[in-house]
Amino acid sequence: MTGSVTDDARETQPPGDYPALFLHAVERWYPQRQGRLEILKGVEFAVWPGEMVALVAPSGTGKSTLLHVAGLLERPDGGEVYIGGNATAHMDDAGRTRLRREEIGFVYQFHHLLPELSALENVVMPQLIRGLSAKEAKARASELLGFLGLSERLDHRPAELSGGEQQRVAIARAVANAPRVLLADEPTGNLDPHTSAHVFSTLIALVRASGLAALVATHNFDLARRMDRVVTIRDGLVIDVG
Ligand code: ADP
Ligand code: MG
Repeated sequence: MTGSVTDDARETQPPGDYPALFLHAVERWYPQRQGRLEILKGVEFAVWPGEMVALVAPSGTGKSTLLHVAGLLERPDGGEVYIGGNATAHMDDAGRTRLRREEIGFVYQFHHLLPELSALENVVMPQLIRGLSAKEAKARASELLGFLGLSERLDHRPAELSGGEQQRVAIARAVANAPRVLLADEPTGNLDPHTSAHVFSTLIALVRASGLAALVATHNFDLARRMDRVVTIRDGLVIDVG
């Protein structure tokens, strides 16, 4: 089966393309003094290109674990993670890192921008690492930041930006290399409700404009309902809730 997506994910889905992200029989546990703390117990879950999925579940249920496994930051203890139809379990760390850099964007609760770089430079950086020219990278960074309403903030360092602006720069950075999948772990968790709603609106507009697949963990039901689908984690499995 290596290298292709099994039929399981396709049964109820449109034929043709692969899911952007597909978790098949994914398990993740942590060793304990006695036995295991089982977090993911055979997750079956797909996100399709252009789809925005909200992950809403109580603290400690495994949202971050799921995102880390989906984003190839952690290896599952069982099962398979497919990115755009490509199996990853057999890959070595270098292969996983390359795939992650090319296909996956991350946004965290804290922006993790480089403090000594401007907003523009923070979005340029991953593109240079990927091998783009400085000119191409700057053009794309300006366009992305403009789309997110930050044209007047290109030269600001993170400390010179508001919390909402910082998160919008972090979103621009995450999608700078045009990934297939955007994973966001409570991206507005540190923001006030008004700013959260604004950051979400720009995120949704960006996903709509780019055809990305996005999986966004959030505690905010109002914001979650604005996405295509809401899932939760129950008993170690991902289930649809609307
Ligand atoms: P969430 O993001 O939904 O709050 P997490 O994925 O961070 O949940 O954690 C899920 C569970 O796994 C929690 O009970 C947490 O304590 C446990 N956990 C997370 N990381 C580790 C670790 N490295 N070692 C042991 N337990 C962990
Ligand atoms: Mg978490």
